[in-house]
Order: sequence, then structure tokens, then C-alpha cells
Amino acid sequence: AASAQRPEEVIQRYMEVVAGVQDEDCIICMDQLSNASGYETQSTEEGPSVLPDTVGKFIKCGHTLHMLCMLAMYNNGTKDGSLQCPSCKTIYGEKTGTQPKGKMEIYSIGQSLPGHPDCGTIQIIYSIPPGLQGPEHPNPGQPYSCRGFPRFCFLPDNDKGRKVLELLKVAWMRRLIFTVGTSSTTGEPDTVVWNNIHHKTEMMSNLSGHGYPDPNYLDNVLSELASQGVTEDCFKA
Ligand code: NAD
Repeated sequence: AASAQRPEEVIQRYMEVVAGVQDEDCIICMDQLSNASGYETQSTEEGPSVLPDTVGKFIKCGHTLHMLCMLAMYNNGTKDGSLQCPSCKTIYGEKTGTQPKGKMEIYSIGQSLPGHPDCGTIQIIYSIPPGLQGPEHPNPGQPYSCRGFPRFCFLPDNDKGRKVLELLKVAWMRRLIFTVGTSSTTGEPDTVVWNNIHHKTEMMSNLSGHGYPDPNYLDNVLSELASQGVTEDCFKA
């Protein structure tokens, strides 16, 4: 599994070493790239480590920063084998999240959504039972609560809505739809909350702002999915 890889190897897969001093700042430590990273090199028995003065360049977006700063950022996260450029947010590899175990079910409803009179409706039901937090959560070993589950969500059953549904299935598999944290609605900590991919939980009105009609919704959620690395590219072989 990607998560079993050494962090140094993950960094070196997606960044190449740049020779010559850059007249730029490192976006992580804000010091000049010509100065060494403030992070300490971890000595490892398994292989070469990253040195503090090594400057790395991301292979796709080309942004440069101290490799050791990027390694520290990676080690601070979920260590899932993926990297995200801190400048432009380009994702390398497959970003995964910390969504707890649960169930995603899909149903079809004949009724139309406001704003989408020409088609029926897709209903998604998310069920997540309470459990204990893992090492990837804010308070490992402590319980997490699950408020308002099952949560019911709605998409128009047209081409774009079905495309969003397929991408949401990918996001669910990658554990990106929910996370464990503090609810901004209730202030409750250690609870399962939405994680930056908006869902429509109100079918026939939009009193909450999380309902229909909302002509921009499908485009907005597509760009939220893309910023988590979930795009149509996921369906290419
Ligand atoms: P949150 O309050 O931490 O917010 C995270 C994101 O979810 C935000 O981007 C917000 O815009 C979005 N969001 C907020 N309310 C939403 C809603 N009704 N439908 C769809 N998206 C919504 O996230 P959370 O704690 O998961 O709470 C979101 C909603 O879940 C609450 O508004 C409420 O409807 C429901 N909830 C119910 C209970 C309950 O006891 N029944 C408890 C907590 C939350």
C-alpha cells in the first residue's frame, strides 16, 4: 500500500532536486531557499535522508521549496503516500482522508428538484455509527459521536448529477466526505462532520442554504471535488 512507503521516497517521487541557489522564499518556512530549512534531518537506517539545504521542485506544477520543509509537512499529515503543493494545491498521488467507517447508499426518486424540472432525483444516504478515534483523528482512542445520521442528500438525476454521483463515490472510497472534528454548527468536538465537499441535504426548498434551487451547485461541488484530487481523470485507466 502507498501508506507503507517511506516518507522520503514519497517526497522524492513527486519532487526533483534543483541545483543552484534560488532567489525566492520557501512557502513553508518563509526563509530564503538559499538558506537551509529550519527542520532537522531525521537520521534513518533505511535509506538516504533529505538534507536541510536541498531545494525541491514539484514535477507537475514546478513550485520550489525546501524538500525537508515538505517532508515535515507530509509527516504532520495522514501520510497516505500523496502530496499537495502548498503554493497551488496541485495533488500528487491519491489524496485520502480520515472519514470513519460507514455506509453510502444510492436511491432513485421520481420527484424533481426545484430548478431541475426535467428529471428525477438521486438520493444518497450516508450512515456512520459512533466509534473510537484512530491514530489519524484528533484524539486517538477517544470516542466520536455521529449527529444527524443517517444524512440524506439529493442530486438531479441528469448527466451532470450522475457525474457528480460517480465522483462522490470515489471521494467516499478515499474517505474524503466526512472527517472527525469540531462541528462549526454546534461547536461539539470529537464528532463526525462534513469535510469541504458540500452536499444538498434539503430537497424541496433552500431555507438552510443547503437545498434547491441552486443553479451553481453542481459546478461548485465539481470544483470542491477537484480540489481534493477527485476528477474525471479518476475513471481513466
Ligand atoms: P459543520 O457544522 O462543521 O459544517 C461543515 C460544513 O457542512 C460547512 O461547510 C457547512 O456549510 C456544511 N453544512 C452545514 N449545515 C449543513 C446542512 N444542513 N446540510 C449540508 N451541509 C451543511 O458540519 P456538521 O457538524 O456535519 O453539521 C452540518 C449539519 O449536520 C447541521 O447543519 C445539521 O443539519 C446536521 N447536524 C445535525 C445534528 C443533530 O443532532 N441532528 C447535529 C449536528 C449536525
